Amino acid sequence: MDHFLYRDGRLMAEDVDLAQIASEVGTPFYCYSAATLTRHFRLFDEALAGMDHLVCFAMKSLSNVAVLKLLGDLGAGVDVVSGGEYARARAAGIPGERIVFSGVGKTREEMAQALEGGIRQFNVESEPELLALSEVASGMGATAPITLRVNPDVDAQTHEKIATGRKEDKFGIPIARAREIYAEAARLPGIKVIGIDVHIGSQLTSLAPFEAAYGKVADLTRQLRADGHEISRLDLGGGLGIPYTRDNLAPPLPSDYGDLIRRTVGDLGCEIEIEPGRLISGNAGILVSRVIYVKEGEDRTFLILDAAMNDLLRPAMYGAHHDIVPLVEPAPGVEYAPMDIVGPVCESGDTFAKTRSMPPLKAGDLVAFRSAGAYGAVMASEYNSRPLVPEVLVHGDHSAVIRPRPTFDDMIARDIIPQWL
Ligand SMILES: *Cc1c(COP(=O)(O)O)cnc(C)c1O
Repeated sequence: MDHFLYRDGRLMAEDVDLAQIASEVGTPFYCYSAATLTRHFRLFDEALAGMDHLVCFAMKSLSNVAVLKLLGDLGAGVDVVSGGEYARARAAGIPGERIVFSGVGKTREEMAQALEGGIRQFNVESEPELLALSEVASGMGATAPITLRVNPDVDAQTHEKIATGRKEDKFGIPIARAREIYAEAARLPGIKVIGIDVHIGSQLTSLAPFEAAYGKVADLTRQLRADGHEISRLDLGGGLGIPYTRDNLAPPLPSDYGDLIRRTVGDLGCEIEIEPGRLISGNAGILVSRVIYVKEGEDRTFLILDAAMNDLLRPAMYGAHHDIVPLVEPAPGVEYAPMDIVGPVCESGDTFAKTRSMPPLKAGDLVAFRSAGAYGAVMASEYNSRPLVPEVLVHGDHSAVIRPRPTFDDMIARDIIPQWL
């Protein structure tokens, strides 16, 4: 559920009229609901009640510092995947002991940055990374707390580009080699093994792949303990899916996910970490855009918006579906007609939807892309020299711009013409 609902025929973000924000900020813009972010974080936190746990928001899904501050103040940790994300987490006031560092390609500079600033743990994904981390930590007179990310060879049955737990995927170490690599880790001077990490993919709509993966993690925990390792923490990754349409099958609830965790690994006495991204941020955000033209093509109608693939990449990148609704609620009984909904970028890939059934719309009308909070603004670019899309956060009847739209001058000022030109 979210907090973007019609009230008196107008789409609201909590208690704020989205058309009002559009008139102040211009379009396109992202808008996030603090109440939805809070609610989704708490659902996970409550789902793990009774177990020693930390919910680490996967900030690659939505990394605005204001959003991180909001979640951090609720007690969230964060999962970061780059030095830039680490710096954002710290800028939001999140202490190092609540930051976990994931990713297959951590550089030595990023390792040193996190060891220097404080880190809960590194989720290490390969032997070369393990060796590099040991060297960096020893060189600093430090010890790096780690889990090894194991690849359980489980098919998450999700989109090809976001499945991560099969043996052909680039992530983690093969679970069959885990005992050998843990033995190696235990011998390294700059490393302290504290647990196991697993993350099998994103937008999972069934609990079965989690169950298979966590069962393997439980077996591995017992095996590694028998080998003499202290396994006190399990990082179970993120990946729980969200409904992108009103009428699709409801994905599993965080509470059912929590029960599954209790059932599969709850008796091991480990501290539990999870790294949800999309389920916290996805339905907490929308993208608002204005209709520029309604163009009658030869065999179809094109709705041309002022938002484009550079603002919201998911449809072009994953073929993703977003519900698109007018800011003025359609009157009951109006006739819907199929339209292709496109942006102004000079690529045919800049298409948000084909033959989408839409109520009557005309130039100047406002529409909202639902479920755009995750992997939306963070993937935006300035392709076609379209200034980076702004972000707005709403809380009750308050709203604030949390990232302004750059001016053309801001955008151009980043380029430098060399003296010799
Ligand atoms: C992307 C990612 C997540 C979050 O995935 P969601 O599907 O957004 O919940 C968590 N952990 C890791 C390591 C990731 O790469």
